[in-house]
Amino acid sequence: MKGLIVKGIGGFYYIQTEAGLIEAKGRGIFKKQGITLCVGDEVEVTLLDDTGGKGVIEEIYPRKNHFIRPPIANIDIFAVVFAARSPKPNYPVIDKFLIAAEIHDIEPVICINKCDLVSDSEAAEIKAIYENEYKVILVSSKTGQGIEELENTIKGRKTALAGPSGVGKSSILNLLHPKAEMETGEVSHKTQRGKHTTRHVEIFSAEGGGLIFDTPGFTSFELGDIDESELAHYYREFGKYDSQCRYDDCRHLKEPQCAVRAAVEDGRIHPLRYKSYEDNYEELKGRRKY
Ligand code: GDP
Ligand code: ZN
Repeated sequence: MKGLIVKGIGGFYYIQTEAGLIEAKGRGIFKKQGITLCVGDEVEVTLLDDTGGKGVIEEIYPRKNHFIRPPIANIDIFAVVFAARSPKPNYPVIDKFLIAAEIHDIEPVICINKCDLVSDSEAAEIKAIYENEYKVILVSSKTGQGIEELENTIKGRKTALAGPSGVGKSSILNLLHPKAEMETGEVSHKTQRGKHTTRHVEIFSAEGGGLIFDTPGFTSFELGDIDESELAHYYREFGKYDSQCRYDDCRHLKEPQCAVRAAVEDGRIHPLRYKSYEDNYEELKGRRKY
């Protein structure tokens, strides 16, 4: 029968099926083929006769996307979390998460957390950097601001939180699935969270519907796989202008008659996005020199 891997610990997987929760191991063939089973995988599982609720995973259904570390699959939404203050936003890093989302066919939703620490106008200024191209939610896990909007946004989808350390991902996660412990009977869960010890990955029902990956991963992304000449493509708003650059292969750096830079100069592209582009471009170029 068909099921969803909701938890993986040390080679054992817990599969949600119409017949309830099944504990299963993967067939040896997965290991032989170098395939890691992921939380979020949809699988075909067979029950072993003489055991109560134990089974074998026979097959993985095609994935929409997957990551090895943390091992999760079929992510619909990245809630890209950063703090309005403390730590202050690092835009090149944030933009790497947005790029990673794009590469893996995941819809990014930007959550600016700790809005309780800044004025409304400061929060609006940060939001303005992204709001023309992305969905942006102003959040405070302290006051509860924006949590309902986030719940509504992730309803019916599979969501992973991504963002640097210390921005409030765990705090937001706790608000999104406060009943998780009761659902799974796992008492130790909350006490483990936040400590950066290795622990298992699990997917939970969010309070408002949908599923949310509980994983300590996704605190940074490397742009290793993309060529610097492709980078501009991932800055969505550049696409409105780049066809008007003088040179077809314009990198929007020092070239004459660059329409992207012209858009930055007259405020149609936010300067912090352009600065982030320059920084990430330099980083990519540096890496390729070895
Ligand atoms: P993570 O590393 O991204 O999981 O961040 P945590 O959830 O562990 O939060 C890091 C610190 O920021 C903790 O001390 C939290 O109490 C604090 N924090 C989280 N969210 C907020 C918020 O909305 N407002 C304020 N003022 N502090 C917050
Ligand atoms: Zn250009």
